[in-house]
Amino acid sequence: MDLIKDGWFTEKCALWPGQAMSLQVEEVLYHKRSRFQDVLVFRSKTYGNVLVLDGVIQCTERDEFSYQEMIANLPLCSHPNPKKVLIIGGGDGGVLREVVKHPSVESVVQCEIDEDVITVSKKYLPGMSQGYSNPKLTLHVGDGFEFMKQNQDAFDVIITDSSDPVGPAESLFKESYYQLMKTALHEGGILCCQAECQWLHLELIKEMKHFCKSLFPAVDYAYCTIPTYPSGQIGFLLCSKNPNTSFSDPVQKLTPEKVDEMHLKYYNSEVHRAAFVLPEFSRKVLCDA
Ligand code: SAM
Repeated sequence: MDLIKDGWFTEKCALWPGQAMSLQVEEVLYHKRSRFQDVLVFRSKTYGNVLVLDGVIQCTERDEFSYQEMIANLPLCSHPNPKKVLIIGGGDGGVLREVVKHPSVESVVQCEIDEDVITVSKKYLPGMSQGYSNPKLTLHVGDGFEFMKQNQDAFDVIITDSSDPVGPAESLFKESYYQLMKTALHEGGILCCQAECQWLHLELIKEMKHFCKSLFPAVDYAYCTIPTYPSGQIGFLLCSKNPNTSFSDPVQKLTPEKVDEMHLKYYNSEVHRAAFVLPEFSRKVLCDA
């Protein structure tokens, strides 16, 4: 197993050349090739169980909450009354766990391409996959791009929790996918997609923000910190069909009591606002996008 050497897993990828994240491995729990990708789960020394697809870390039990809470709550708290939610990808179940915490959400449809990711997550990542038993959920196994074509005016919020734009998720970073999401959203609907890291992929983010602005009247980019994603950050692209949406000023503000009740460990309304404040090198590039 060449991803693991001398008891350390090392994440190398052409998307972040010249750098690598390593985690010390205690035990390999699962390693097989699915129909779509190489699926590895190991117990790490200090980050709990770790899910790796095609050699790239998808989530660790220690820090996953940062990403899952942000990709779910940034759009849900920017919408006045989200009832119908679609999740694309998200096979570990963490985004679903966060979405069903919102009392206004009546139904969630999730479309994940790889059934094996769902199966291993239920076994090895129970803290994330707990949402799969929620009665609000309808689960489809299939390609998110193809699934999107079948929906018109159907959802208040669409969340794309995808892997990187190589392999099965490539189509989910294209303008045509954003066009399909626009059609699938209700009037006033909002989408939020995994949108890579400003330290590594600023040109890709710029290009995506640019085509989003030609499709939606309100577009913004936010980010969160997370130790085990490349360069310790990951970003989110948010688009709204409502021109009055101001993403950095959430319409639903959570009281500290509500934050506790929802067991949130990263997201609160202040973090929501701060997530849109970009460092100067990034602001300069993305403000003209
Ligand atoms: N947050 C993680 C990250 O940024 O690395 C992603 C986590 S989640 C496990 C990503 C999921 O997207 C995977 O389970 C993968 O199988 C799924 N996926 C990739 N391409 C897809 C597609 N075209 N349609 C639906 N799901 C897809």
